[in-house]
Amino acid sequence: MSFKNLNLIEPVMKALTAEGYTVPTPIQEQAIPHIMVGRDLQGCAQTGTGKTAAFAIPIIQNLYLQKQPVNGIKVLILTPTRELAIQIDQSFAVYGKFTRLTHTVIYGGVSQHHQVIALKKGVDVLIATPGRLLDLIGQGFIDLRRLGTFVLDEADRMLDMGFINDVKKVVVHLPKKRQTLLFSATMPPEIEKLAQSMLVNPAKAEVTPPATTVDLIEQQLYHTNKINKPDLLLHLLEDKDIRSALVFTRTKHGADKVVRVLLREKVKSAAIHGNKSQNARQAALNSFKEGKLRVLVATDIAARGIDIDDLTHVFNFDLPEVPETYVHRIGRTGRAGNSGTAIAFCTTEEKDDLRGIEKLIGRKVPVVDNHPFPAIAGDTVNKPAPARRRRY
Ligand code: AMP
Repeated sequence: MSFKNLNLIEPVMKALTAEGYTVPTPIQEQAIPHIMVGRDLQGCAQTGTGKTAAFAIPIIQNLYLQKQPVNGIKVLILTPTRELAIQIDQSFAVYGKFTRLTHTVIYGGVSQHHQVIALKKGVDVLIATPGRLLDLIGQGFIDLRRLGTFVLDEADRMLDMGFINDVKKVVVHLPKKRQTLLFSATMPPEIEKLAQSMLVNPAKAEVTPPATTVDLIEQQLYHTNKINKPDLLLHLLEDKDIRSALVFTRTKHGADKVVRVLLREKVKSAAIHGNKSQNARQAALNSFKEGKLRVLVATDIAARGIDIDDLTHVFNFDLPEVPETYVHRIGRTGRAGNSGTAIAFCTTEEKDDLRGIEKLIGRKVPVVDNHPFPAIAGDTVNKPAPARRRRY
């Protein structure tokens, strides 16, 4: 199927052509026709499947075709993280650039000043994280009474991050008669219940997590010791084929530590995590996307939704405790049919995590034995391999 079969208007088609999109992704193929005719939708899809365009394209089209447009906010998109909010806002800019659509994004952790100015000018589409939205509604800067479409993005993440009550509080401010679209990577019972309370006779669209994507990714496992992990990373980064790497650590502190080591060895890198200001995170992300940084070190929450088209390598510097997180992490490479490499470090203490991951993906991760920083038998924690260890 091509986008031509979806009855899209010329300004949207032009924007998609400019982006090089010709074929809709499965979630787009399933969702766009329903959203275009105004139906509610329950979409089961995760970041990386093209779900942003799956709702942004028909929303832009519907707004464009509205015969008697109302004044005020017509569409609200609620999303759990600042990074996702910014990315969705950028998507509306890209797909809507040949229409007169106005949009803005609001999120916490920064001054509200510019956000309020943007809101006062009036916008068609508002993209928001829950806390700042409620805050600005409370201050009287946001009126949602004329809203036509509400999108709840990453609903399961809202639940994980403790935002579900905020979401419910936002819904109280919306007109009862509206179109609602709910997207979630998984449908735990609580989200299913929320969907039933918010959606009216919804169409359903579902794409399974990217098992096929995982097949395109070469996975490697290095057994090592905790103290040797930075050296092992530096050793592997000597390979110039690693053009852009996303490195996952368990903690914010761990992310900073890795960056200090990399910078000392002149590897251009930066960390993104919740302790960094929004501006610092966005600057680091932009530099990475532009190729000015070779390595971005991140925690899972900060990296959620970050969308980098050309990522050659993902490192699990620390293995995640939740096996699904491993699949999400490595799915950052091997996007859009490209191949990619996912490298995991595993210490003796992380062997249980490894077992959980291998059970989930249904295979053993191939082990690379021949490297200078192996785990030493009988050593559980911090003994370095004597040769080649640098001092930090
Ligand atoms: P998302 O799941 O919304 O985070 O999108 C993942 C990536 O796929 C983004 O880089 C989009 O720009 C890209 N993308 C979305 N739809 C298409 C499409 N139909 N063809 C090619 N790339 C797409």
